[in-house]
Formats: sequence, C-alpha cells, structure tokens
Amino acid sequence: MNKKIGNNSGNIILGGILTECNEFSINIMTQENFERYEYFEDSKILELKNGVVGGMLSILNKSAFNIAPTVFASCSPGGVITDECYNNIKSKIISRIKNIKDLRAVILPLHGAAVTETIGDLEGDLITSIRKLIGKEIPIVVTLDLHAHVTEDMVTQSSAILAWETYPHLDPYETGIRGAKILRSILEENLKPKMFFSKVPLLHSAINASTFGETPFAELMNNLKDEEKNNPNILSTSFIHVDPYIDQENMGGGAIVITKDNIESAKKISLKHTRKYWDRRQEFEPELYKPDEAIKDGLNKKTNALLVETADACGGGAAGDSVITLKDLVKIAPESKSLVHVVDPIAAMKCSKMQAGEIIEILLGHQVDNQWGEPIKIRVKIEKVSDGKFKYNGGIWDNTVGEMGPTALVSINEINILISTFGTYEWNCEQFLSFDLNLDSYKFVVVKNPMNYKNTFSHIKNIYVLDTQGPTPPTCKHLKFKKMFNYFPKEKDLKFDDILISYNN
Ligand SMILES: [Zn+2]
Repeated sequence: MNKKIGNNSGNIILGGILTECNEFSINIMTQENFERYEYFEDSKILELKNGVVGGMLSILNKSAFNIAPTVFASCSPGGVITDECYNNIKSKIISRIKNIKDLRAVILPLHGAAVTETIGDLEGDLITSIRKLIGKEIPIVVTLDLHAHVTEDMVTQSSAILAWETYPHLDPYETGIRGAKILRSILEENLKPKMFFSKVPLLHSAINASTFGETPFAELMNNLKDEEKNNPNILSTSFIHVDPYIDQENMGGGAIVITKDNIESAKKISLKHTRKYWDRRQEFEPELYKPDEAIKDGLNKKTNALLVETADACGGGAAGDSVITLKDLVKIAPESKSLVHVVDPIAAMKCSKMQAGEIIEILLGHQVDNQWGEPIKIRVKIEKVSDGKFKYNGGIWDNTVGEMGPTALVSINEINILISTFGTYEWNCEQFLSFDLNLDSYKFVVVKNPMNYKNTFSHIKNIYVLDTQGPTPPTCKHLKFKKMFNYFPKEKDLKFDDILISYNN
C-alpha cells in the first residue's frame, strides 16, 4: 500500500505513549493500565477515528505518504510507569523504526508529563532515542497535553511541539490535525521550523486555569493565539501550564512559538507571553474551604452545592480513594441527599457480590494510597451493582469504553456512595450516569477533579474548592518536592529574569 508520487512519498512513523504521571501518588502504572484504556499495535492504530491519533490520520490519510503505525498506548493518569512497561513499549516502537525503509518523518502523540521508575522525562527519552536512530534531518513532530513538563531534550531533539489549546480538553482530535498539517508542510514545503520555548517556575493547580470564560489562562491563551493568527511566519503556538504533580527539576510553564524560519522572532514572541503569565501568577491561587465549613455553608443555601475534592483527582493521578469529605458529610449532613465516588477495590469486591437491599459493614477509603487519611467503618445498604463499564461522552477518550471494574452503588442514610474497583478519568460524570442517577436531585455532589465537573454542572453556582490532603492538591504551596525549590507560590520574591529558562531547536 505504498503510495508514491514524486518527492512526497515514503513512510511516516506514528506512535507513542499518552498518559500523565503523579509522583506524589503511590499508584504504579503497568501495561494493564493501558490495556484497560487504549493499547494498540500496528494496523489496529489505523482504525482509530477519535482522539489525537484520529485527527492525525484524518490528514495523513489524504497525503501521498504511507503511514507506518507502531504502538499507541494511552490511559487515565496514575503514579509512575514501571520501567518494564515503558521499556516494552519503547522497544517495540524503536524496532519498528529500525525496520522501516524510506523513512521520511516521525509523528508522536505524547502527553508531556510521563515519568517512569527511573526516567524523569519519558517523552524526552523517547524523542532523543528516536533522534539518535534516524539522524538530524528527518523531522519529528510531537503533540502534547498542555499540562506538560516540556524539557530541553524534548525541544532540542524535535522539529515541532504542539499542545492542546483547550482546557477542559476538547481538542485532542484538532491537535492531531494541527500536528499532521505541520508535518505535511515541513515535508512538502521543505521547511526547517524554528522553535523557542520559555518557561517560569509557576506551579498551580488547574482550578483557575480553564481556557474558557474570563479566566487568566483563557486570556493568556487567546492573546498568544491572536499572535499566531496575525503572523503568517508563525507555524504554531502553544501555552504550557506544567502538570505540577511530578517532581522534576526546572518545572514551569510558558509559551512555545514555532516559526517557519526565524528563531529571533520565535524567541521574542515566546518571552513576551511567558512574561505576561508570570505577571499574573497571583491569580492562579484559588480560594479554599475546609470540608466541614463548606458543608455547613452549603446547608444554608437554597440550591445544590458542589464539593470539589480536587486533591483526590484520578485525572491527575490520585487514587480516587479519599473519604475525607465523605466523613464530614456523614457527621454533619447525613440527611442531605449527597453523592460521592470512592475507589476501593476491597470494598467494591465485597459490595458488588451482594444483592440490592442487603446491608453490609465495610471499611472504606485510603486503601489504595494510604498516605492521605484513614478508612471509615460504615454500615451501608446495597442499591445497585454493575461491571463498572461506561462510555465517555467527549474529551480525550470520547466514545471509548471506561472500566471501573466491579462497582456498587451503596447508601448510608441519604448519602449515596459509588464504590469502584479502579480509578478512571472523569470527563462528564459518565461514572455516575452509568448508574442512571439524577444528578440534579442531590444537595451535595463531591466531584474529584479541578475542572471537568464544569462539563456537567455549569448551572451550579455554589462551588466549594476543598483544602484537603492528597496527591493533586488545589494549591502547590505545601507539596513536598525533592527536586523543585524556587517556585511560586512557595517563594514570593522571585524575579522574572532570574528564574526564566528557555530552550530552542
Ligand atoms: Zn491535561
């Protein structure tokens, strides 16, 4: 199936690993994590219609180049990836590249914040290994989540890096299209793109970092994108907000600017926008409530309330097993209709074997990652059990099936608890909706993510971001980094020129 037309022929390697890691979580990620989400080899990749790979294929399939798929693995965030898992996937990608003839380019759908047991920069390692193999001339185009830790290796060893433009992430497919279009331009117009990335050590949660509405990050993103629209020499811009829950040196965010041929122009524009990000740093620190304060305040409100326990976000790599907020609901508001999701494989196994209406005493919570709290002992009534399968409605895994494993909906007084075996990325409350729950009937819903709850609950105005313990906290002030020291908001007196880091290709 090699399609050869003039100079625009040959093979484009496609493959990669897409997941976000959390070094404060004790969840280890293995091959099994990927197999529960997306793990594809060779021609299976060509069948993908959605997500970043679907977007890449939609453009590359129309070109005269042949797509040579390798491995594509993506999954809900977790702790670090085992070396065994990474080495297995990497060696498959590398061996397929070694065996390819007439290689013209490489396109890698990656995340940007993946870490293994011994490698702090998975993406930099993969890109560098491929670069060593293929030499300096063959282009490598990389797509990332905007929550990436963009490193020197990633920038110096690749030709172009593009990140999602939206958060909540609505545009992996479109980013795949953008990446593939740039790759085609590089090949068909013989471009040698010039990329500049500057970053500042600004570590904040995603709470105030939506790209929609009147948020600081939305304005920063829009200003950068205006620059791209108005300057024909700019091939791409990306605004990076680093995932603050890995523990690596030189973490930070800022603007990536890629021009067709002008590094000075890329540098000037990147620095201008990264400086604006730094100037607005105070705006990213959220207002926080203790769970008991939030519940008491919510009880005084006539309408429903959301308790945002973002410190336990599976989408940021936490276990999803916290019962910190649940404990206060049981104590303060047992007669208020409330809904909480807790990941607990032991409790889920017990409850999911029972019948609706039966009563059981269980120990619940902090049994996957026991660093952040103590389990609660409760007697619950089984309401419903399921195999935990659900379908995503939008986002990175739009239309794919998510698996919570054996799952039970139980109740204690008026509080409903969804107890699942596995943690899963939350997009549009698909986990709750798979149990046919009427979400508007609950006075309190505990949501365990910093942003995506807005996909479901944009109509709810009483929102309490909770100051609780966990590996994905709403402020980075108290994170116990081993490799990051001088960063905002921990250090208040940092000067832009002293802390700026930049790389170019
Ligand atoms: Zn992200």
